[in-house]
Amino acid sequence: MNDDREKLVDMFNSTHLGDCLRELSLIYDDVEKETSAFCEDYNIHCTAGCGECCEHFMPDITPAEAKLVASYLLLLRKDISLIDKVQQPGQDHCPLYDESNPYHCQVYSVRPLVCRLFAQCASRGKDLKAVFRRCRFSGGALMPERLEFPVESDIKTMDDYGLRVHSLESGEVKDLDEAVTNALGEVSMIAGFLGLKRHNSNDDGDDSTPTPSPQAS
Ligand code: SF4
Ligand code: SF4
Repeated sequence: MNDDREKLVDMFNSTHLGDCLRELSLIYDDVEKETSAFCEDYNIHCTAGCGECCEHFMPDITPAEAKLVASYLLLLRKDISLIDKVQQPGQDHCPLYDESNPYHCQVYSVRPLVCRLFAQCASRGKDLKAVFRRCRFSGGALMPERLEFPVESDIKTMDDYGLRVHSLESGEVKDLDEAVTNALGEVSMIAGFLGLKRHNSNDDGDDSTPTPSPQAS
């Protein structure tokens, strides 16, 4: 399990939240392993340094995903200005995107499922065939334009992973800013009960592990 996610799971050990974060993190482990293998098998690579897919995009995320991001912001990142930014109303793109950050995503280790799958995975069409389509920002040089797999192939699709993540916890899928804003209160309350040190306005340091080089943001 990724270090940041492991730390968060340990912090909430023996709570329902901790169980939920563990299950989600294990799904992310599978996604990381399987999308890496898929991209290697089919020669799919993002343009170096690119993060255009995040730039005008607001991810839809589940309540469990929102709690993981909220936990990371409150307990590992502890950056009050970033937490405030997420909670600004009326945003039309992801508040966690940072053009000046070489990795673009400020919560890379806990980023939601859709961000892990974009241009890294096939999706299933109405005819049930799995289809991979090239990211329209890629310029075409680093990934095939389209791959199609027969219905009987065992290629994992976005729908397969989505079903697993959605089944973790009931609740509506929402835009990331709204979902994380909702989750911050609950996570903060549970962290308070457990005596965990949350963000502090005098501490804007990032004591999490460094962001790894992304394949896709
Ligand atoms: S999927 Fe990859 S190539 Fe496409 S915009 Fe995102 S980072 Fe760039
Ligand atoms: S990868 Fe990060 S910055 Fe990009 S859309 Fe997802 S959460 Fe936002």
